[in-house]
Amino acid sequence: MKANLLIACNCILGEGPVWDERRGMLWWTDIDGKRIHRYDRETGRHERIEVPEKVGAFALREKGGIIVAAANGWALCNEDGSDWRHIADPEPEHANHRFNDGKCDASGRFYAGTYALDNQPRASLYVIQPDLSWERLADGVICSNGLAWSPDDRTFYYIDSLKKGVDRFQVDPATGRLSDRRTVITLEEPGVVPDGMTADEEGMLWVAEWGGWKVSRWNPRTGQRLMTVEVPAKYVTSCAFGGEGMDELFITTASVGLTEEERRQQPLAGSVFHIKVGVRGRPTYRFAG
Ligand code: CA
Repeated sequence: MKANLLIACNCILGEGPVWDERRGMLWWTDIDGKRIHRYDRETGRHERIEVPEKVGAFALREKGGIIVAAANGWALCNEDGSDWRHIADPEPEHANHRFNDGKCDASGRFYAGTYALDNQPRASLYVIQPDLSWERLADGVICSNGLAWSPDDRTFYYIDSLKKGVDRFQVDPATGRLSDRRTVITLEEPGVVPDGMTADEEGMLWVAEWGGWKVSRWNPRTGQRLMTVEVPAKYVTSCAFGGEGMDELFITTASVGLTEEERRQQPLAGSVFHIKVGVRGRPTYRFAG
């Protein structure tokens, strides 16, 4: 299977796709470009929203507006990026850390983790609750990345990219806290690391492969790769389900760090791609606060 171009947007580090089912819009962030993008499927209108910090991930809020996990912690802002209100920075002591991937669970809690740019295992995974209280869920992380939940929301899947695999935790449904960590998938291919991730209704995981030119579908119960979707960009960063039938996979990519020759070979690097994959995915949830 091969993904098709949805929109050529030339992101430096496209990430964190969010399907807004109420308006039929796809949103994503260009972390290094300091922009949030949104694309209206029906009208074809594509907007770039300037933001004051690198936004690693964001979620739409039930109340309207956005919650972001950014370079200096969490913040709330309007949909046009205005009225940026800082909430908290969980790691003020680490100037070389920034927030990376994040996502809400079905209860509307926002999970997001940090990336230690010096590659030391001092980053963490956090959750911020709808009342804006927050806590650390896991430490010893280098590059916090993909997050996904099982169909019954009792299992959480997590990628720390430099560990080259997917770990699973048990979830306490009342608090969202995590326990009983275990590695369930390992990527063996040299030069390829797992990045963003989503889950489908059958409980299978779709993992974006940074350096791998693809998204792959995995069975977390057996650790086996079931299929791949080729993407015409080396750095595939994340994916999310959406579209009218919730069976369309949206895929973000990056152009950061490509040589001149690589840019000629992959002129669509940094664009967003899509493909119908024949299975329905889990929705993108809003922040309940
Ligand atoms: Ca990522």
